[in-house]
Amino acid sequence: MAQTDQAAQEDRALLDHLRENVATACRILAQHAIVKGTMGHVSTRVPGTNDILVRGRPPVDKGLRFAEPSSVIRVDSDARPVGATHGVKRVSEIYLHTEVYKRRPDVNSVIHAHAPWTRLCTVCNIPLRPIYFEANPIKMLMDGIPVYERSITLHTLDETRPMLEVMGDKDICLLSRHGVVVAGPSVEETTHRVIELEHIARNNYLAALTGDVGEIPFEDKAEWKRRAILTAERARLGLPDELHPGGSDDDGRGERDQMWTYYVALLETGALTVNESGLGLGL
Ligand SMILES: [Zn+2]
Repeated sequence: MAQTDQAAQEDRALLDHLRENVATACRILAQHAIVKGTMGHVSTRVPGTNDILVRGRPPVDKGLRFAEPSSVIRVDSDARPVGATHGVKRVSEIYLHTEVYKRRPDVNSVIHAHAPWTRLCTVCNIPLRPIYFEANPIKMLMDGIPVYERSITLHTLDETRPMLEVMGDKDICLLSRHGVVVAGPSVEETTHRVIELEHIARNNYLAALTGDVGEIPFEDKAEWKRRAILTAERARLGLPDELHPGGSDDDGRGERDQMWTYYVALLETGALTVNESGLGLGL
């Protein structure tokens, strides 16, 4: 096979893989009741470009719970469709995807969801705070999460830009009484962040019902930071993680890959515990 043919075939295989990932992320988020019906969207960057692959609206849209790779279309950095779309229309809030990729070369995936617990916290003015000792809440909340105060859906560039200014270089932006925009280095990682954010929001909301809720102590945040730095440094040097002498909490592939495997297994088996679903409803 000529080298150019092989390269083209590899490109096609990569894009197929990314379309599959986007569709899978939609199904995962729907299973967790973080998106419902046809609302919410997942995108990823076409490697080496500002084009993106984004789940659009197929002619007969059964919603994100049933998203297929065929509903994932390619659009350029100005949100114009690239190639055949087979009747799949782009989503109305497309610019909150395209503009983030343009501004952030480090971002390879963007998710917008009307996440119920996260949105409820903005409705009730409940700040998201690290109130229990787990790595993700502390990591995600350490530097604060910006809140865009307008609740309108963002259909145009002019409507989207003020939100982007508030989001800045942060990976998460809450859209008050609307939802959330989450960015990340991959579809897998960004999906995990959205699910973790919902857990954080649910815990904060329920804790706030009891009255004055304290954060974890300052010295424990400092200890978390010390451990994170130590773990990263030992990983960089190829040394075992001395924080977990009896064995790590993950299976050695890293949290992102392990959690993606877990979410896909939940999809495949239909298993989901009550505590893991959106507003506490069994599916
Ligand atoms: Zn929206």
